[in-house]
Amino acid sequence: MCESNNSVEAAMHVAPLELSDNRRQQQIEAALCELQFTMETVKKIGRVFESELEKGIHEEPSSLQMENTYIPELPDGTEKGKFLALDLGGTNFRVILLELDDGKVTDEKVKHYHLDDELKVGCGDRLFGFLAECISDFVKEQNLTGARLPLGFTFSFPMIQKALDVGILVTWTKTFNCPSVVGKDAVQMLKDAIHRRGDTHVEVLAVLNDTTGTLVQGAVLDNRTAIGLILGTGSNACYLERADRVQHWEGQRHGEKQVIIDIEWGAFGDNGVLDFIKTDYDREVDKNSLLATSFTFEKYISGKYLGEIVRVILVRLTANGLLFDGIASKKLLSQNSFPTSYVSQIEQDTVDGGNKNTEDILDKFNLQYTTEDIAVVKYVCEVVSNRSALLVSICLSRLLIRMDRPDTTIAVDGSLFKHHPRLKTWMNKYIQLLAPGKKFRLLLAEDGSGKGAGIVAAIALRLKERFQET
Ligand code: ADP
Ligand code: MG
Repeated sequence: MCESNNSVEAAMHVAPLELSDNRRQQQIEAALCELQFTMETVKKIGRVFESELEKGIHEEPSSLQMENTYIPELPDGTEKGKFLALDLGGTNFRVILLELDDGKVTDEKVKHYHLDDELKVGCGDRLFGFLAECISDFVKEQNLTGARLPLGFTFSFPMIQKALDVGILVTWTKTFNCPSVVGKDAVQMLKDAIHRRGDTHVEVLAVLNDTTGTLVQGAVLDNRTAIGLILGTGSNACYLERADRVQHWEGQRHGEKQVIIDIEWGAFGDNGVLDFIKTDYDREVDKNSLLATSFTFEKYISGKYLGEIVRVILVRLTANGLLFDGIASKKLLSQNSFPTSYVSQIEQDTVDGGNKNTEDILDKFNLQYTTEDIAVVKYVCEVVSNRSALLVSICLSRLLIRMDRPDTTIAVDGSLFKHHPRLKTWMNKYIQLLAPGKKFRLLLAEDGSGKGAGIVAAIALRLKERFQET
Protein backbone atom coordinates (compact mmCIF):
# COMPACT_ATOMS: atom_id res chain seq x y z
CA MET A 1 0.00 0.00 0.00
CA CYS A 2 3.00 2.28 0.40
CA GLU A 3 4.34 1.49 -3.02
CA SER A 4 5.15 4.31 -5.31
CA ASN A 5 4.95 4.52 -9.08
CA ASN A 6 6.43 8.00 -9.26
CA SER A 7 10.24 8.13 -9.43
CA VAL A 8 10.63 11.42 -7.50
CA GLU A 9 8.28 10.14 -4.83
CA ALA A 10 10.16 6.84 -4.62
CA ALA A 11 13.42 8.77 -4.17
CA MET A 12 11.92 10.32 -1.04
CA HIS A 13 11.02 7.00 0.55
CA VAL A 14 13.37 4.78 2.54
CA ALA A 15 14.46 1.34 1.35
CA PRO A 16 11.78 -1.31 2.00
CA LEU A 17 11.94 -3.51 5.05
CA GLU A 18 12.96 -7.11 4.34
CA LEU A 19 11.69 -9.69 6.80
CA SER A 20 11.36 -13.45 6.40
CA ASP A 21 7.71 -13.27 7.45
CA ASN A 22 5.89 -11.51 4.62
CA ARG A 23 2.74 -10.83 6.58
CA ARG A 24 4.62 -9.27 9.47
CA GLN A 25 6.59 -7.14 7.05
CA GLN A 26 3.43 -5.88 5.38
CA GLN A 27 1.79 -5.07 8.70
CA ILE A 28 4.78 -3.06 9.86
CA GLU A 29 5.05 -1.22 6.57
CA ALA A 30 1.36 -0.43 6.73
CA ALA A 31 1.70 0.88 10.28
CA LEU A 32 4.40 3.31 9.09
CA CYS A 33 2.97 4.09 5.70
CA GLU A 34 1.52 7.47 6.62
CA LEU A 35 4.96 8.69 7.65
CA GLN A 36 6.16 8.43 4.05
CA PHE A 37 4.48 10.99 1.86
CA THR A 38 3.01 10.67 -1.59
CA MET A 39 4.11 13.30 -4.12
CA GLU A 40 0.67 14.83 -3.80
CA THR A 41 1.15 15.26 -0.04
CA VAL A 42 4.63 16.72 -0.53
CA LYS A 43 3.20 19.28 -2.94
CA LYS A 44 0.32 20.07 -0.64
CA ILE A 45 2.65 20.70 2.32
CA GLY A 46 4.65 23.10 0.13
CA ARG A 47 1.52 24.94 -0.97
CA VAL A 48 0.22 25.22 2.59
CA PHE A 49 3.60 26.56 3.77
CA GLU A 50 3.65 29.17 1.02
CA SER A 51 0.07 30.18 1.77
CA GLU A 52 0.69 30.50 5.52
CA LEU A 53 3.85 32.47 4.78
CA GLU A 54 1.94 34.89 2.52
CA LYS A 55 -0.81 35.30 5.09
CA GLY A 56 1.70 35.88 7.88
CA ILE A 57 3.58 38.52 5.94
CA HIS A 58 0.32 40.30 5.13
CA GLU A 59 -0.67 40.24 8.80
CA GLU A 60 -3.61 37.93 8.16
CA PRO A 61 -4.32 35.06 10.57
CA SER A 62 -1.62 32.40 10.06
CA SER A 63 0.34 29.88 12.08
CA LEU A 64 3.52 31.58 10.82
CA GLN A 65 4.31 34.70 12.81
CA MET A 66 6.74 36.08 10.18
CA GLU A 67 8.43 38.47 12.61
CA ASN A 68 10.27 41.46 11.23
CA THR A 69 13.74 41.45 12.83
CA TYR A 70 14.56 44.93 11.45
CA ILE A 71 17.97 43.63 10.36
CA PRO A 72 18.17 45.02 6.80
CA GLU A 73 21.68 43.99 5.87
CA LEU A 74 24.36 41.42 6.54
CA PRO A 75 27.99 41.84 7.52
CA ASP A 76 29.85 43.56 4.68
CA GLY A 77 33.43 42.82 5.69
CA THR A 78 34.12 46.23 7.26
CA GLU A 79 33.07 45.32 10.82
CA LYS A 80 35.82 46.23 13.22
CA GLY A 81 36.17 46.66 16.97
CA LYS A 82 34.95 45.11 20.21
CA PHE A 83 31.36 43.95 20.58
CA LEU A 84 29.43 42.22 23.35
CA ALA A 85 26.74 39.59 23.19
CA LEU A 86 24.43 38.43 25.95
CA ASP A 87 22.85 35.02 25.45
CA LEU A 88 19.75 34.31 27.56
CA GLY A 89 17.30 31.46 27.06
CA GLY A 90 19.59 28.80 25.58
CA THR A 91 21.22 25.96 27.44
CA ASN A 92 23.67 28.35 29.14
CA PHE A 93 23.56 31.97 30.18
CA ARG A 94 26.66 33.66 28.78
CA VAL A 95 28.36 36.98 28.16
CA ILE A 96 30.61 37.09 25.11
CA LEU A 97 33.20 39.57 23.87
CA LEU A 98 33.97 39.50 20.16
CA GLU A 99 36.79 41.26 18.46
CA LEU A 100 36.15 41.88 14.78
CA ASP A 101 38.50 42.98 12.07
CA ASP A 102 37.62 43.18 8.38
CA GLY A 103 34.33 41.50 9.23
CA LYS A 104 36.03 38.43 10.68
CA VAL A 105 36.10 37.28 14.28
CA THR A 106 39.71 37.65 15.43
CA ASP A 107 39.18 36.98 19.13
CA GLU A 108 36.41 35.69 21.37
CA LYS A 109 36.04 35.60 25.14
CA VAL A 110 33.14 33.84 26.82
CA LYS A 111 32.03 33.63 30.42
CA HIS A 112 29.19 31.47 31.67
CA TYR A 113 27.17 32.64 34.65
CA HIS A 114 24.88 30.65 36.86
CA LEU A 115 21.28 31.83 36.98
CA ASP A 116 19.56 30.82 40.20
CA ASP A 117 16.13 29.27 39.74
CA GLU A 118 14.86 31.86 42.17
CA LEU A 119 15.87 34.62 39.72
CA LYS A 120 14.11 32.90 36.84
CA VAL A 121 10.74 33.00 38.54
CA GLY A 122 11.02 36.18 40.58
CA CYS A 123 10.51 39.82 39.78
CA GLY A 124 11.78 41.19 36.47
CA ASP A 125 13.89 43.95 37.99
CA ARG A 126 15.90 41.43 39.94
CA LEU A 127 16.47 39.24 36.89
CA PHE A 128 17.59 42.13 34.70
CA GLY A 129 19.58 43.58 37.60
CA PHE A 130 21.50 40.32 37.71
CA LEU A 131 22.07 40.33 33.95
CA ALA A 132 23.49 43.86 34.23
CA GLU A 133 25.67 42.73 37.14
CA CYS A 134 27.12 39.90 35.01
CA ILE A 135 27.80 42.30 32.12
CA SER A 136 29.54 44.65 34.49
CA ASP A 137 31.60 41.84 36.06
CA PHE A 138 32.66 40.62 32.63
CA VAL A 139 33.52 44.08 31.30
CA LYS A 140 35.69 44.76 34.38
CA GLU A 141 37.42 41.41 34.01
CA GLN A 142 38.25 42.29 30.41
CA ASN A 143 39.59 45.71 31.53
CA LEU A 144 37.06 47.51 29.35
CA THR A 145 35.26 49.57 32.00
CA GLY A 146 35.74 52.87 30.18
CA ALA A 147 35.11 51.54 26.68
CA ARG A 148 31.95 52.15 24.68
CA LEU A 149 30.68 48.64 23.96
CA PRO A 150 27.76 47.87 21.62
CA LEU A 151 25.82 44.78 22.72
CA GLY A 152 23.60 42.31 20.87
CA PHE A 153 21.05 40.63 23.14
CA THR A 154 20.01 37.08 22.24
CA PHE A 155 16.70 36.68 23.97
CA SER A 156 15.38 33.23 23.04
CA PHE A 157 11.75 33.69 24.01
CA PRO A 158 8.67 34.56 21.95
CA MET A 159 8.70 38.30 21.45
CA ILE A 160 7.15 40.92 19.21
CA GLN A 161 9.80 43.15 17.75
CA LYS A 162 8.96 46.77 17.15
CA ALA A 163 12.46 47.85 16.17
CA LEU A 164 15.94 46.36 16.03
CA ASP A 165 16.26 47.18 19.73
CA VAL A 166 12.70 46.76 20.95
CA GLY A 167 11.40 43.29 21.83
CA ILE A 168 8.14 42.86 23.74
CA LEU A 169 8.01 39.57 25.62
CA VAL A 170 4.90 37.60 24.64
CA THR A 171 5.31 34.80 27.17
CA TRP A 172 8.08 33.12 29.12
CA THR A 173 8.92 29.53 28.16
CA LYS A 174 11.41 26.85 29.32
CA THR A 175 12.12 27.29 33.04
CA PHE A 176 11.51 31.05 33.18
CA ASN A 177 8.52 32.80 34.64
CA CYS A 178 8.85 36.40 35.84
CA PRO A 179 5.26 37.61 35.31
CA SER A 180 6.03 41.32 35.61
CA VAL A 181 8.09 41.21 32.38
CA VAL A 182 5.34 39.82 30.10
CA GLY A 183 4.15 42.56 27.73
CA LYS A 184 7.23 44.68 28.44
CA ASP A 185 10.25 45.49 26.31
CA ALA A 186 13.08 43.21 27.43
CA VAL A 187 15.66 45.53 25.87
CA GLN A 188 14.42 48.55 27.81
CA MET A 189 14.52 46.53 31.04
CA LEU A 190 18.12 45.55 30.31
CA LYS A 191 19.06 49.13 29.39
CA ASP A 192 17.45 50.44 32.59
CA ALA A 193 19.31 47.90 34.71
CA ILE A 194 22.64 48.79 33.07
CA HIS A 195 21.86 52.48 33.54
CA ARG A 196 20.94 52.00 37.20
CA ARG A 197 24.38 50.55 37.85
CA GLY A 198 26.07 53.25 35.80
CA ASP A 199 29.46 51.50 35.95
CA THR A 200 29.90 50.56 32.26
CA HIS A 201 29.36 52.12 28.83
CA VAL A 202 27.47 49.22 27.36
CA GLU A 203 24.86 50.11 24.74
CA VAL A 204 22.20 47.53 23.94
CA LEU A 205 21.70 48.02 20.18
CA ALA A 206 19.86 44.91 19.06
CA VAL A 207 17.70 42.05 20.24
CA LEU A 208 17.53 38.80 18.28
CA ASN A 209 17.03 35.05 18.53
CA ASP A 210 19.39 32.17 17.75
CA THR A 211 17.96 31.65 14.24
CA THR A 212 18.71 35.22 13.16
CA GLY A 213 22.13 34.98 14.81
CA THR A 214 22.81 31.83 12.79
CA LEU A 215 22.01 33.53 9.48
CA VAL A 216 24.27 36.46 10.33
CA GLN A 217 27.04 34.21 11.61
CA GLY A 218 26.70 32.17 8.38
CA ALA A 219 27.11 35.36 6.35
CA VAL A 220 30.51 35.96 7.95
CA LEU A 221 31.61 32.48 6.83
CA ASP A 222 30.02 32.68 3.37
CA ASN A 223 28.57 35.87 1.87
CA ARG A 224 25.99 33.93 -0.16
CA THR A 225 24.14 33.08 3.09
CA ALA A 226 20.49 34.18 3.00
CA ILE A 227 18.69 31.56 5.12
CA GLY A 228 19.25 30.62 8.78
CA LEU A 229 18.02 27.29 10.14
CA ILE A 230 17.96 25.74 13.60
CA LEU A 231 17.70 21.97 14.00
CA GLY A 232 18.39 21.36 17.68
CA THR A 233 16.03 20.92 20.61
CA GLY A 234 13.59 22.98 18.58
CA SER A 235 13.43 24.17 15.00
CA ASN A 236 13.03 27.53 13.32
CA ALA A 237 14.15 29.35 10.19
CA CYS A 238 14.64 32.89 8.95
CA TYR A 239 15.47 34.36 5.55
CA LEU A 240 16.18 37.57 3.70
CA GLU A 241 12.91 38.92 2.35
CA ARG A 242 12.37 41.82 -0.05
CA ALA A 243 11.49 44.84 2.12
CA ASP A 244 8.63 45.87 -0.20
CA ARG A 245 6.89 42.58 0.53
CA VAL A 246 6.96 43.16 4.28
CA GLN A 247 3.83 44.83 5.57
CA HIS A 248 4.59 45.04 9.27
CA TRP A 249 7.15 47.78 9.77
CA GLU A 250 6.90 49.98 12.82
CA GLY A 251 8.79 53.25 12.82
CA GLN A 252 10.40 54.92 9.86
CA ARG A 253 11.74 53.06 6.82
CA HIS A 254 15.13 54.16 5.54
CA GLY A 255 14.95 52.82 2.00
CA GLU A 256 15.78 49.26 3.09
CA LYS A 257 15.81 46.81 0.17
CA GLN A 258 15.61 43.66 2.26
CA VAL A 259 15.13 42.53 5.84
CA ILE A 260 15.55 39.29 7.79
CA ILE A 261 12.19 37.70 8.54
CA ASP A 262 12.02 35.26 11.43
CA ILE A 263 9.43 32.72 10.30
CA GLU A 264 8.90 31.05 13.71
CA TRP A 265 8.11 27.84 11.85
CA GLY A 266 8.06 25.67 14.95
CA ALA A 267 4.40 26.69 15.25
CA PHE A 268 3.59 25.93 11.59
CA GLY A 269 0.28 24.04 11.61
CA ASP A 270 -0.87 25.10 15.08
CA ASN A 271 -4.07 26.31 13.41
CA GLY A 272 -4.76 22.85 11.95
CA VAL A 273 -3.47 23.42 8.39
CA LEU A 274 -1.03 20.50 8.70
CA ASP A 275 -3.45 18.06 10.27
CA PHE A 276 -3.55 16.01 7.05
CA ILE A 277 -0.10 14.60 7.87
CA LYS A 278 -0.73 14.04 11.58
CA THR A 279 -0.57 10.37 12.56
CA ASP A 280 -1.80 8.65 15.72
CA TYR A 281 1.84 8.57 16.84
CA ASP A 282 2.06 12.36 16.52
CA ARG A 283 -1.20 12.76 18.40
CA GLU A 284 0.16 10.70 21.26
CA VAL A 285 3.46 12.62 21.38
CA ASP A 286 1.52 15.87 21.36
CA LYS A 287 -0.89 14.77 24.07
CA ASN A 288 1.99 13.87 26.39
CA SER A 289 4.02 17.00 25.65
CA LEU A 290 4.38 20.03 27.89
CA LEU A 291 2.67 22.35 25.42
CA ALA A 292 -0.06 20.25 23.82
CA THR A 293 -1.57 21.52 20.55
CA SER A 294 1.25 23.97 19.95
CA PHE A 295 4.60 23.75 18.11
CA THR A 296 3.03 21.30 15.64
CA PHE A 297 5.80 21.45 13.02
CA GLU A 298 8.56 21.31 15.61
CA LYS A 299 7.02 18.10 16.96
CA TYR A 300 7.42 16.43 13.54
CA ILE A 301 11.05 17.40 13.09
CA SER A 302 13.12 18.53 16.05
CA GLY A 303 15.49 16.85 18.48
CA LYS A 304 13.15 17.21 21.42
CA TYR A 305 10.61 14.89 19.76
CA LEU A 306 12.14 12.50 17.19
CA GLY A 307 13.24 9.96 19.80
CA GLU A 308 9.83 10.09 21.47
CA ILE A 309 8.05 9.48 18.14
CA VAL A 310 10.27 6.43 17.60
CA ARG A 311 9.50 5.17 21.10
CA VAL A 312 5.75 5.59 20.65
CA ILE A 313 5.91 3.62 17.37
CA LEU A 314 7.99 0.84 18.94
CA VAL A 315 5.50 0.55 21.80
CA ARG A 316 2.60 0.34 19.33
CA LEU A 317 4.31 -2.31 17.17
CA THR A 318 5.09 -4.33 20.29
CA ALA A 319 1.51 -4.09 21.52
CA ASN A 320 0.38 -5.40 18.14
CA GLY A 321 2.71 -8.37 18.47
CA LEU A 322 4.95 -7.20 15.63
CA LEU A 323 8.08 -6.59 17.71
CA PHE A 324 9.97 -8.08 20.69
CA ASP A 325 7.59 -11.04 20.71
CA GLY A 326 4.90 -8.69 21.99
CA ILE A 327 6.76 -7.92 25.24
CA ALA A 328 7.72 -4.33 26.02
CA SER A 329 9.93 -3.30 28.95
CA LYS A 330 9.15 -0.81 31.68
CA LYS A 331 11.74 1.58 30.30
CA LEU A 332 10.34 1.41 26.78
CA LEU A 333 6.92 2.26 28.19
CA SER A 334 8.26 5.35 29.98
CA GLN A 335 7.68 8.65 28.26
CA ASN A 336 10.75 10.39 26.87
CA SER A 337 13.04 7.45 27.63
CA PHE A 338 14.31 7.36 24.05
CA PRO A 339 16.48 10.44 23.35
CA THR A 340 17.06 11.56 19.78
CA SER A 341 20.78 10.82 20.17
CA TYR A 342 19.76 7.11 20.15
CA VAL A 343 18.07 7.66 16.80
CA SER A 344 21.38 9.04 15.47
CA GLN A 345 23.29 6.04 16.83
CA ILE A 346 20.88 3.55 15.28
CA GLU A 347 20.98 5.45 12.00
CA GLN A 348 24.77 5.18 12.15
CA ASP A 349 24.37 1.39 12.18
CA THR A 350 22.21 1.61 9.06
CA VAL A 351 24.86 3.75 7.36
CA ASP A 352 27.66 1.37 8.40
CA GLY A 353 25.70 -1.83 7.81
CA GLY A 354 26.22 -2.94 11.43
CA ASN A 355 24.02 -3.61 14.45
CA LYS A 356 26.24 -2.79 17.43
CA ASN A 357 24.75 0.57 18.46
CA THR A 358 21.21 -0.75 18.08
CA GLU A 359 21.99 -3.81 20.23
CA ASP A 360 23.57 -1.66 22.93
CA ILE A 361 20.51 0.58 23.02
CA LEU A 362 18.02 -2.31 23.09
CA ASP A 363 20.07 -3.84 25.92
CA LYS A 364 19.74 -0.59 27.87
CA PHE A 365 15.98 -0.99 27.50
CA ASN A 366 16.11 -4.59 28.82
CA LEU A 367 14.43 -5.88 25.68
CA GLN A 368 14.64 -9.40 24.26
CA TYR A 369 15.20 -9.14 20.52
CA THR A 370 15.94 -11.12 17.37
CA THR A 371 17.98 -10.02 14.35
CA GLU A 372 14.73 -9.15 12.59
CA ASP A 373 13.62 -7.00 15.54
CA ILE A 374 16.83 -5.05 15.05
CA ALA A 375 15.96 -4.54 11.39
CA VAL A 376 12.52 -3.24 12.39
CA VAL A 377 13.95 -0.79 14.97
CA LYS A 378 16.40 0.49 12.38
CA TYR A 379 13.58 0.87 9.87
CA VAL A 380 11.48 2.91 12.34
CA CYS A 381 14.39 5.27 13.08
CA GLU A 382 14.99 5.66 9.37
CA VAL A 383 11.37 6.44 8.51
CA VAL A 384 10.99 8.98 11.34
CA SER A 385 14.31 10.71 10.52
CA ASN A 386 13.50 10.74 6.84
CA ARG A 387 10.16 12.44 7.44
CA SER A 388 11.93 15.16 9.43
CA ALA A 389 14.46 15.74 6.64
CA LEU A 390 11.73 15.82 4.00
CA LEU A 391 9.50 18.28 5.89
CA VAL A 392 12.40 20.68 6.46
CA SER A 393 13.43 20.31 2.81
CA ILE A 394 9.93 21.04 1.49
CA CYS A 395 9.89 24.36 3.36
CA LEU A 396 13.48 25.27 2.48
CA SER A 397 12.88 24.55 -1.21
CA ARG A 398 9.84 26.84 -1.13
CA LEU A 399 11.98 29.58 0.38
CA LEU A 400 14.65 29.12 -2.31
CA ILE A 401 12.04 29.38 -5.06
CA ARG A 402 10.47 32.43 -3.44
CA MET A 403 13.81 34.20 -2.93
CA ASP A 404 14.93 33.36 -6.45
CA ARG A 405 18.61 34.11 -5.92
CA PRO A 406 21.36 32.85 -8.21
CA ASP A 407 23.07 31.05 -5.34
CA THR A 408 22.08 30.65 -1.69
CA THR A 409 23.90 29.31 1.34
CA ILE A 410 21.70 27.99 4.13
CA ALA A 411 23.40 28.44 7.51
CA VAL A 412 22.42 25.69 9.94
CA ASP A 413 23.00 25.23 13.66
CA GLY A 414 21.81 22.66 16.18
CA SER A 415 22.89 19.28 17.50
CA LEU A 416 20.31 17.31 15.51
CA PHE A 417 21.74 18.58 12.22
CA LYS A 418 25.30 18.27 13.49
CA HIS A 419 25.10 14.73 14.84
CA HIS A 420 22.46 12.90 12.82
CA PRO A 421 24.45 10.88 10.27
CA ARG A 422 22.05 11.28 7.35
CA LEU A 423 19.92 14.38 7.75
CA LYS A 424 22.24 16.57 5.72
CA THR A 425 22.55 14.07 2.85
CA TRP A 426 18.78 13.67 2.63
CA MET A 427 18.19 17.40 2.79
CA ASN A 428 20.65 18.02 -0.04
CA LYS A 429 18.89 15.42 -2.15
CA TYR A 430 15.32 16.52 -1.40
CA ILE A 431 15.93 20.23 -1.84
CA GLN A 432 17.50 19.51 -5.23
CA LEU A 433 14.46 17.47 -6.22
CA LEU A 434 11.95 20.03 -4.96
CA ALA A 435 13.68 23.22 -6.11
CA PRO A 436 15.26 22.00 -9.34
CA GLY A 437 17.93 24.27 -10.75
CA LYS A 438 18.25 26.33 -7.56
CA LYS A 439 21.88 26.48 -6.50
CA PHE A 440 22.33 26.13 -2.74
CA ARG A 441 24.44 24.54 -0.03
CA LEU A 442 23.97 23.70 3.66
CA LEU A 443 26.64 25.22 5.87
CA LEU A 444 27.14 24.44 9.55
CA ALA A 445 27.33 27.83 11.31
CA GLU A 446 27.76 27.30 15.00
CA ASP A 447 26.98 29.65 17.85
CA GLY A 448 24.62 32.12 16.25
CA SER A 449 23.32 33.04 19.69
CA GLY A 450 26.83 34.12 20.74
CA LYS A 451 28.98 35.13 17.79
CA GLY A 452 25.95 35.97 15.64
CA ALA A 453 24.64 38.38 18.29
CA GLY A 454 27.98 40.21 18.51
CA ILE A 455 28.00 40.63 14.74
CA VAL A 456 24.41 41.90 14.77
CA ALA A 457 25.56 44.51 17.29
CA ALA A 458 28.22 45.59 14.77
CA ILE A 459 25.61 45.89 12.01
CA ALA A 460 23.31 47.81 14.37
CA LEU A 461 26.11 50.25 15.19
CA ARG A 462 26.76 50.85 11.50
CA LEU A 463 23.05 51.53 10.88
CA LYS A 464 22.82 53.85 13.86
CA GLU A 465 25.76 55.91 12.72
CA ARG A 466 24.43 56.06 9.16
CA PHE A 467 20.92 57.16 10.20
CA GLN A 468 22.33 59.79 12.58
CA GLU A 469 24.31 61.28 9.69
CA THR A 470 21.29 61.55 7.40
P1 ADP B 1 19.69 23.97 21.74
O1 ADP B 1 18.76 23.59 20.66
O2 ADP B 1 19.10 23.82 23.10
O3 ADP B 1 20.34 25.28 21.53
P2 ADP B 1 21.47 21.99 20.64
O4 ADP B 1 21.51 22.61 19.30
O5 ADP B 1 22.76 21.47 21.17
O6 ADP B 1 20.91 22.92 21.75
O7 ADP B 1 20.42 20.82 20.57
C1 ADP B 1 20.25 19.94 21.63
C2 ADP B 1 19.24 18.90 21.22
O8 ADP B 1 19.75 18.18 20.09
C3 ADP B 1 18.98 17.86 22.25
O9 ADP B 1 17.86 18.26 23.02
C4 ADP B 1 18.64 16.63 21.45
O10 ADP B 1 17.27 16.62 21.16
C5 ADP B 1 19.36 16.83 20.17
N1 ADP B 1 20.57 16.00 20.12
C6 ADP B 1 21.61 15.97 20.97
N2 ADP B 1 22.53 15.06 20.59
C7 ADP B 1 22.07 14.52 19.44
C8 ADP B 1 22.53 13.51 18.55
N3 ADP B 1 23.67 12.86 18.78
N4 ADP B 1 21.77 13.22 17.48
C9 ADP B 1 20.60 13.83 17.26
N5 ADP B 1 20.10 14.77 18.07
C10 ADP B 1 20.82 15.11 19.14
MG1 MG C 1 21.05 26.45 20.11
